[in-house]
Amino acid sequence: MPVGTLASVKGVPQATLEELGAHIILGNTYHLYLRPGVETVRRMGGLHGFMSWRRAILTDSGGFQVFSLNELRKVSEEGVTFRSHLDGSSHFFSPEISMEAQIGLGADIIMAFDECTEFPADRTRARASMEMTARWAARSKKYLEDHKHEVPWNAASSCGYVGTSAPLCAAERSSRAAPASPRSPGLPKAAVPTQAFSRQTVSPPSPPTQSPPTQSLFGIIQGGMDRDLREESAERTIAIGFPGYAIGGLSVGEPRDLTREIVESTLEHLPSDKPRYLMGVGTPEEIVEYACLGVDMMDCVLPTRAARHGLLFTSEGKVSIKQARYAQDPAPLDPNCGCQVCQRYSRAYLRHLYASNEVLAQVLNTIHNLSFYLDTMRRVRHSISLGEESRFLSSVRSRPKP
Ligand SMILES: [Zn+2]
Repeated sequence: MPVGTLASVKGVPQATLEELGAHIILGNTYHLYLRPGVETVRRMGGLHGFMSWRRAILTDSGGFQVFSLNELRKVSEEGVTFRSHLDGSSHFFSPEISMEAQIGLGADIIMAFDECTEFPADRTRARASMEMTARWAARSKKYLEDHKHEVPWNAASSCGYVGTSAPLCAAERSSRAAPASPRSPGLPKAAVPTQAFSRQTVSPPSPPTQSPPTQSLFGIIQGGMDRDLREESAERTIAIGFPGYAIGGLSVGEPRDLTREIVESTLEHLPSDKPRYLMGVGTPEEIVEYACLGVDMMDCVLPTRAARHGLLFTSEGKVSIKQARYAQDPAPLDPNCGCQVCQRYSRAYLRHLYASNEVLAQVLNTIHNLSFYLDTMRRVRHSISLGEESRFLSSVRSRPKP
């Protein structure tokens, strides 16, 4: 999932994301809560209407960002008091407030409010944190069940959110189920998917159901770096019951081998017939490795953030486009990449844009990196469907390491 923190995947218009074959993007509740504010987004028909994105959206609970504000937060059983990184103003997040915000933002998949256990944490601390996450998961679920009708989708058709023959997400199905109403004049028309998305591999839309579709709330497994606590967290979260499960609290500074070990052992305790989402990873090699272990969903700022710093992922390894050796290089960035950047521009031009601090450098670099990631995942899915994922994983691991 490309990360669109502030209802924007930095530097990439929504139409381009569609062409790249992105079917779901991620928004950050903490950032959107502070700016532009949940109520603004709700009035615009939720994130779908606000950012004119008709495909699926996932929002995080805000927990990870709030817990990253080490100096600026205070945790209790009830929730977390924190100070805004923007203006220092004081705010309070609880499972209920996180759910209220995520219902207002109206993403298709929303996340239970959890405590992201810091690393390192001793066993007593990791247990207490995991147990609080389990209690917060139950509170998150209860709040959504009591308030799920407040999702702003039904008002979306008056915010330029138009139906087509290709509904792709719960919000889309809901807006189609609502009585048709004409689009308000002066509001932008949402981008309409066309047959141009030849690279997409999506399932056919689900048939209309009797009750309107609602948001899917995923539970999050915590437990620090302790395999037994992770198992217990999985059992307790599954007992509450969610349509999908995430592995949280990783990529928080621990060694990569330990991340892999915890992911592998936690996956054993999660149902394979529900989506399994690994939060906050990773490199192209890691996403292939985790997908082959059974992870279905991942998100990471790496492809977009690295692109803005001139670090590009290719089939031949990493390329730091700022290096002088590319100044006269007429070759495409990645000869094996079919993206619009590699089809059109030379390394010399991309290097020039970066060295000149042109805005276009960030745009083109991000388009290539996202294309490379999404293409990597397409190849993973294809290799899994052929039962050849081990061979694909070996080929990815044998890529040159500059
Ligand atoms: Zn490319």
